[in-house]
Amino acid sequence: MQLTEDLIRSVVAQVLAEVGQAPAVPGPPCAATRGYAGRHGVFTDVDQAVAAAREAFEQLQERGLEDRRRIIGHIRRISIDQCVELGTMEMEETRIGRLEHKIEKLKTLGEKAPGVEFLRSEVYSGDHGLAVIEHAPFGVIGAITPVTHSLPTITGNAVNMIAAGNAVVVNPHPSGRRVAAEGVRRFNEAIHRDLGIDNLICVIAEPTLETASAIFAHRGISLICVTGGPAVARAALNSGKRAIVAGPGNPPVVVDETADLDRAARSIIRGGGYDNNLLCIAEKEVFVVEAVFEPLLKAMQRAGAVRLSSAEIERLTAAAMVEVGEGAARHPVPAKELLGQDAAVLARAAGRNVPPGTELLFGETDESHPFVSVEQMMPFLPFVRCRNVEEAIEKAQHYEHGFRHTSIIHSNNVRNMSRMGRIMDTTLFVKNGPSMAALGLGGEGYLSFSIAGPTGEGVTTPLTFTRERRCSMIDDLWILGKPSTE
Ligand code: NAD
Repeated sequence: MQLTEDLIRSVVAQVLAEVGQAPAVPGPPCAATRGYAGRHGVFTDVDQAVAAAREAFEQLQERGLEDRRRIIGHIRRISIDQCVELGTMEMEETRIGRLEHKIEKLKTLGEKAPGVEFLRSEVYSGDHGLAVIEHAPFGVIGAITPVTHSLPTITGNAVNMIAAGNAVVVNPHPSGRRVAAEGVRRFNEAIHRDLGIDNLICVIAEPTLETASAIFAHRGISLICVTGGPAVARAALNSGKRAIVAGPGNPPVVVDETADLDRAARSIIRGGGYDNNLLCIAEKEVFVVEAVFEPLLKAMQRAGAVRLSSAEIERLTAAAMVEVGEGAARHPVPAKELLGQDAAVLARAAGRNVPPGTELLFGETDESHPFVSVEQMMPFLPFVRCRNVEEAIEKAQHYEHGFRHTSIIHSNNVRNMSRMGRIMDTTLFVKNGPSMAALGLGGEGYLSFSIAGPTGEGVTTPLTFTRERRCSMIDDLWILGKPSTE
């Protein structure tokens, strides 16, 4: 034995103390007031927000893991206990999606967002000594969040980032800024009251593209995490800073001839209709092999979805898609008025009345239809007929646009599942269930609404927001060139 146990213990204790994993000494209930204490994270000025978050980060560094757990506990508690009030606030402000799902997203985040338990150190010990790999915080992170889940994205990011020892400054989507500020204010107030640290989560109350750029460029921001569509993903990747990019998706579904069609139909309705199709992982277009095309459409109707005729689909498309750009760059995008609206509202635009509780509309289109290529974020799904499973997978790959975000298959043929998994190479691949099951909403696993495809981190966790550090203790064997004797 080259290293005594005492020596190992002392190195491990030193490393743990450095990363804030020393035996927890809870902080004073109300520490001395600092410069920005009492603001509860709501700022209009980016410089002030970054300075306040830095101050909070420095205070957090003086605390142990147990305090991080307590801080996250407050965020979880508020997210669960106040999910109805905050979910309703988000619905009233953004006016997209479905209230029951706004509420469920906040509640499930409170339960399933990964926290401090995700931090692990790796230890290598051998003849030459000891190496400990520790996961240290970055400092102050700059986050950009979408309108589709304004407060849920902030909540998940805050739990992950604080568990890892960071503070965060958020530029929310302007159309979800009020609920973002109110949620952040409540989180900070509870944390401040209990632990004496304010402003661990800062939010820009009047966010603009300029404030987003100021966060990207700020010297006090060590890392960027963006959740949104193609423009913000590009901006983050061009920012010159390390960026974690949770970008857009256009998740295809493949249904082959071996699928359980009633189960496939129920899953497609549950996933495609969830929060009116706002989720980036939600089913957006369905490729079905010819042999089961009509039976699957009948199963969809039996399960409660409403089938539109070709004429109705064309009327809906005229209202739901608008052309933007010039010349060769001209392309369709979803119309704001119908984005995230109820199926009954889309049906009216198609010239049809459906019961108000209808979750999903669907119908047959060909592959060139805008509802196939565009990430529609509304509860109408196009179904495309394919000769066989090979063609269905090929089209799925094409219309996923190389985002490598999410794909779904309904099949009982393992070869087809493996083949699709390999070809699609998506961050999330779901078999025989609704898309949200992959995020722990009705399935196994943990939940975050930032799924980093382009930069490869996947569903974000506290480890996503850490830097690796190595602490090495070298044994006598190497220094002296001979085995040491006890
Ligand atoms: P969006 O791209 O319009 O906005 C997202 C955020 O980026 C907003 O805060 C917006 O103000 C900001 N933004 C936009 N352009 C910017 C720029 N050039 N510079 C700086 N900031 C900019 O998206 P949205 O409508 O709010 O959300 C829907 C999109 O987000 C969809 O494409 C969806 O797939 C994607 N999304 C992805 C994930 C994921 O985890 N991968 C999660 C949720 C949403």
